[in-house]
Amino acid sequence: MDEKIQLLLEKAKVYAGKTGQAAESAGRKATELAQATRLNLQIFDLNTECEVLYKEIGKLMYDVHQGIEADESGIQDRLAKLDERREKIEGLRGQISLLRSSVRCPNCGRVCSRADTFCAGCGGTLNTDAAAEVPAADSVPGNENGSSCDPAED
Ligand SMILES: [Zn+2]
Repeated sequence: MDEKIQLLLEKAKVYAGKTGQAAESAGRKATELAQATRLNLQIFDLNTECEVLYKEIGKLMYDVHQGIEADESGIQDRLAKLDERREKIEGLRGQISLLRSSVRCPNCGRVCSRADTFCAGCGGTLNTDAAAEVPAADSVPGNENGSSCDPAED
């Protein structure tokens, strides 16, 4: 086979590999973003429910002030609901920060810290932000070989 064609094919292979990696990383990012968005929406809903509960408790307190018989169980019930929702919100916030500080091992799928270079499960290299970065145009693969031997042919 023509040496130049072979070289081109090899370069094409490297490019295909890089493109696949970049697409995979972008897909992973999109999934993380979708997860974070979903969690944020859940927090928003819970916060809205909390606002309603605050108002209802406030109304019940005002009723007490007005001399209307206190609906103690109603207040207790709403306080318990508030505790429950605020706890859920804390949990969801924890999940979001975990999502932002974690990275999934491309090899075994284990969730690792973004600060780690290697997976604690399988020892594979992790796609940390720096590693997953799409290569810049000036670091095109094959440059160091291509530029030195191509002009010498003629
Ligand atoms: Zn792993």
